[in-house]
Amino acid sequence: MTPRTILAVGAHIGDMDLAAGPVLAQNVLDGGRSVLLALTPGERGHPRMSIDDYRQQKIDEAHSFAAGIGAEIIVYDDISDGFLTADDDVAARLARDIRAIRPELLLSHWPRSIHRDHEQASLAADRARFLAGLPGWEESDTAEGSRHGVGRVLRTENWEDAEGFSATAYVAIEDEARRRWREAIAGQAFARGETYGFRYIDYYDAQLTTRGALARVPAAVALADAEPRVEAL
Ligand SMILES: [Zn+2]
Repeated sequence: MTPRTILAVGAHIGDMDLAAGPVLAQNVLDGGRSVLLALTPGERGHPRMSIDDYRQQKIDEAHSFAAGIGAEIIVYDDISDGFLTADDDVAARLARDIRAIRPELLLSHWPRSIHRDHEQASLAADRARFLAGLPGWEESDTAEGSRHGVGRVLRTENWEDAEGFSATAYVAIEDEARRRWREAIAGQAFARGETYGFRYIDYYDAQLTTRGALARVPAAVALADAEPRVEAL
């Protein structure tokens, strides 16, 4: 892929790591800059650990994962898992980070999900993109404060967000990027199935293979354009 600056915004630590991680790893290998941003830690996702202990573990796992694929990581650790809302406080905070990072490509959740936080994260990313490019909104003359228009937004293929997801782009993932992603994601307890038993790593690794078959390459990640296509009947 053409190297670029990519920002992947997820509701919880792990969401974008799974669905966008191979793309972020490939982008780094190709010479680009990849940034992960989790709007909450996902600290309520463990049935046996305390919320405080699991929050810290998730944040540690997020940093290890990012280092493993050569990405940067930002976690909004003061926003509570399960209570994410796409209000203007969250959107403004995210818009400031978009202006500082200045991504050419923004990856976010598909807007329909079985998980409300994911739907809110999708809305927050859209609102933040709007604010980041809005003339006169908190503008300054600094490199990090001037407005920034994100060139493209694409949605990721998370299993929780499958309703209506329709792939419109494929990113080919080379063996080295897949290897780095697999090694890095194995450092996350929930991805290993240690919380509720879902076989995340198997699921997403198999998805790389099936999407690769459709894209006629060994492995690929599917993405979807932000606006669902409207079909005239
Ligand atoms: Zn999630």
